Amino acid sequence: MTSWKNQLKNSVTTSQDLCRELSCNKQTVELVAAHYPFRITPYYLKLIKKIGKPLYNQAVPDLRELSDPSGMADPLGEENLSPVANLVHKYPDRALFLVCNECAMYCRFCTRKRKVGKPEMVINEKTIAAGLDYIEATPAIREVLISGGDPLLLSDQRLESILQRLKKISSIEVIRIGTRVPCTLPMRITDDLCQMLKKYHPLYINTHFNHPAEITKESAQACTMLAEAGIPLGCQTVLLRGVNDSPEIIQELMCKLLTIRVKPYYLFQADLTRGTSHFRTRINTGLEIMKGLIGNVSGMAVPTYALDAPGGKGKIPLTPDYIKSLGTTLEFISYRNIPCSYPNYEEKTET
Ligand SMILES: *Cc1c(COP(=O)(O)O)cnc(C)c1O
Ligand code: SF4
Repeated sequence: MTSWKNQLKNSVTTSQDLCRELSCNKQTVELVAAHYPFRITPYYLKLIKKIGKPLYNQAVPDLRELSDPSGMADPLGEENLSPVANLVHKYPDRALFLVCNECAMYCRFCTRKRKVGKPEMVINEKTIAAGLDYIEATPAIREVLISGGDPLLLSDQRLESILQRLKKISSIEVIRIGTRVPCTLPMRITDDLCQMLKKYHPLYINTHFNHPAEITKESAQACTMLAEAGIPLGCQTVLLRGVNDSPEIIQELMCKLLTIRVKPYYLFQADLTRGTSHFRTRINTGLEIMKGLIGNVSGMAVPTYALDAPGGKGKIPLTPDYIKSLGTTLEFISYRNIPCSYPNYEEKTET
């Protein structure tokens, strides 16, 4: 396998290279890239060539990114919830800590496309130290989510220096890393990295696959190596029009994730991010997809479908409605759409 650094060095980042490799309009790519950068690893490029649209759409700049009247630059109100730069403290007991402004691939639908991969997202020793100081001074924070960008684009040494400091903070019980490299740059998962990460348990990794074709021999190996290092793996899939917006595709994806030891965690409704409205599905689509999963496949393969409420109001689960009425009996429909009922009372105990 080629080394991950070579993969990054040989990534496609210019319109000329992109339009030589894939069918695209050079002028469009340049216009869009002036606002939102792109990068495609040779590994993912090969997959795009083999699979086409659902992968192409995730990676190749699209003119519609520039003509989106509805979106918000910062849909989750992250900047307002940042006591120090690059640390989002939205929930009382956990904090989102952005430690890298780069990704192996720049997803066109990224929630943080306002800054990821751009010079505006300044992350350096000082901002990281300020984040760590805030976490240390805020004992209500029990869990730190290390994200970005993609934290696994940092060197093992830089990532370890952050983990080391977090480990020393007695109020931190759990560390979680969010990364898409198992999908877009699986060769980043090396033995050395796994040896390093396993020193910082309890450590969880949530990765990000959106299409069954992203599950390859290479990504399976990356996830297996992480799992062998004792790291529980979750997946945060984004529901995307033209990528995975059908019950069949999501069913296949979720079941395949289990085979590579990844537990589906969230299926996200696409955020209201400016430049991404062409990816958005209706909530109904997501609910129908969830109905297709619930009961029909292993409960292990069923993620929580959720939206992240605008302005930082938090994630809200979106669940198909099985309850028809709730009085002295619960009237509901089964996963096969059969009407059922169930008693709803407490035994009176004699006193
Ligand atoms: C999503 C998110 C979290 C984590 O939420 P979970 O439901 O625990 O996965 C934490 N902080 C911020 C700012 C988030 O956006
Ligand atoms: S890997 Fe995550 S942070 Fe990076 S561009 Fe994709 S969605 Fe955004």
